[in-house]
Amino acid sequence: MTEVNERVRRLGVLGGTFDPVHLGHLVAASEVCQVLGLDEVIFVPTGHPWQKLGRELAPAEDRYAMVVLATASNPLFSVSRVDVDRPGQTYTVDTLDDLRAERGPAAEFFFIMGADAMRGLGTWRNPQELLTLARFVGCTRPGHEMTAEMMADERFLRVEIPALEISSTMCRERVANDLPIRYLVPDAVADYIANRRLYLT
Ligand code: ATP
Ligand code: MG
Repeated sequence: MTEVNERVRRLGVLGGTFDPVHLGHLVAASEVCQVLGLDEVIFVPTGHPWQKLGRELAPAEDRYAMVVLATASNPLFSVSRVDVDRPGQTYTVDTLDDLRAERGPAAEFFFIMGADAMRGLGTWRNPQELLTLARFVGCTRPGHEMTAEMMADERFLRVEIPALEISSTMCRERVANDLPIRYLVPDAVADYIANRRLYLT
């Protein structure tokens, strides 16, 4: 017999290029999960992000593999291939549609983003539609202060997370300059980057 009153699962969604995934992403996911009482946080590496067309990204399969390595030890974390497997550029509307199709009606989505990404919401495709597909959660991020306008924006939940001033850009630059990234990314990710010789130039 099918369960009629299936409990609604509260699912965090953390989209990103994850080029590479770093401890800032993991702390944000973990903190939002705890504060909002989420059942799971789904990491969604982008396929071809339209906002970053100017730059060569590491191959999607490498970025995906690093997120799998980084999240494997946490039973509340999972990784979705919906964006990696969809041809064409990545739009968040499509991400949320695909996750809804996969997870069914008994899911409530919480789309997690740092203060820098929050700022860009107005420029996203179909912002009005987006706001019907998920709750949006803005996290504090050092170097990207929230404006008074962002603080007052009722479309967002806000969560203060432990400040880690780490970015993927910084990690790539450090690798290119032969500086260590250990303790900025999980050990398995640092090893993967070294073995695959990513970000050397
Ligand atoms: P890049 O430097 O390449 O832009 P990034 O570090 O910003 O990389 P993204 O993959 O662009 O990482 O970010 C994915 C999501 O994680 C975004 O919503 C971003 O705001 C958030 N995020 C990334 N780093 C942090 C951090 N240190 N603290 C809080 N949120 C973060
Ligand atoms: Mg970024």
